Amino acid sequence: MSSNTTTGTKKKLARRTAPILVNSAEVEIMRALRRQGRISRSEISNITGWSKAKASQKIRSLVNKGYLVEIGEGASQGGRKPRLLRINDQLGYIAGIDIGATSLDIALADVTGLVLQRCSETTDVKLSPESVFGRCSELLLELIQAQGAIPDQILGIGVGVPGPVDFARGVLVAPPLMPEWEDFPIRDFFKKTFVSAFVVVDNDVNIMALGEQRAGDGAGIDHFIFVKIGTGIGAGIISNGKLHRGSDGCAGDVGHICVDKKGPLCSCGNTGCLEAMSAGPAITSKALEAARNGTSPILSQIREVNGGSLRPEDVNAACREGDQAALDIIRDSGKMIGDVLASLVNFFNPSHIFIGGGIANFGNHLLVAIRRAVLQRSLPLATTHLSIKFSRISSNAGVMGAISLALDYLFALEDSPHVIR
Ligand SMILES: [Zn+2]
Repeated sequence: MSSNTTTGTKKKLARRTAPILVNSAEVEIMRALRRQGRISRSEISNITGWSKAKASQKIRSLVNKGYLVEIGEGASQGGRKPRLLRINDQLGYIAGIDIGATSLDIALADVTGLVLQRCSETTDVKLSPESVFGRCSELLLELIQAQGAIPDQILGIGVGVPGPVDFARGVLVAPPLMPEWEDFPIRDFFKKTFVSAFVVVDNDVNIMALGEQRAGDGAGIDHFIFVKIGTGIGAGIISNGKLHRGSDGCAGDVGHICVDKKGPLCSCGNTGCLEAMSAGPAITSKALEAARNGTSPILSQIREVNGGSLRPEDVNAACREGDQAALDIIRDSGKMIGDVLASLVNFFNPSHIFIGGGIANFGNHLLVAIRRAVLQRSLPLATTHLSIKFSRISSNAGVMGAISLALDYLFALEDSPHVIR
């Protein structure tokens, strides 16, 4: 396995357990601080509707609990200088874990969401869940050590996994790529090592959508779709500024929309799903065919050098060298993905579609084909203001979203559903 680690600013934190917010006004204050970074006491009065005296008392309580710190005075708006507060970044740490079909990304952040340590590594979800989650724990422990911290200081862990997640129970349900992972108790597994942390589990594309909203160009956009194209295809939906999971947690599972009933068998058991027709494995299998039947001399050469195999990135490399067969394969994928996205556009009317995942690195040929298909098949009104572009934080979207998800629950009420504390 290849791995790389990024080391950030070191700082030692004292606190070992997560304090608990007790009412929804406190939750609102923490949310406002996450959005704005710092706010004044009078803004807190406005947000909560508390009188100045009550706000003062509650702020004191939040400072005593270790949630907030005072950071001096801001600029005067004509009267007295406002006294500013921010989230206490010494409260503890949050971990974000993004597991893709072939890669792991793990980050350690403070409770403001600032990433302090980060690592990534190749993986294979066909391995057992004990093996993959065990490796995640090991890597996280390494990041904690590099930070000079201890495992008890981890207050929350957000985990993204590549399959359908029953969000309320935090388990995978019939994951096509890794059937062995079904019902694996992910939250309990991490709780054994990180006893002070709560653990929240979601689908990998949902956390990418949250990451785009938190740290990417999706910030401030109320209706957008994040599409991940890699080994599989999935979509995360932000509707009215909130992640839409649907009634059972599998909203956005667009990879299994049927494109051609006579198409190849999909990992889900059906035939002709979008994923089986146009994601990474479909691209490589079409490329192998082009290498074998002589339509692509370049792919044939690469296959020989690789010892008989091809990867999606080889198809992209051949395309860059002007190989027509490789270009056709990529354009075909883009067209099929675009046709399905056109239906989503008609159905949901997003203002933006962000595209990420390993295959998204293929660049403009894929994007142009997707755009063309969407514009051709969507209603004019739905595409007047529609923007379709690659996510600029694609490789970071997963971990940023996992951290954001964990922070949502750290700064939530004690009895929040979906979280084991
Ligand atoms: Zn399928």
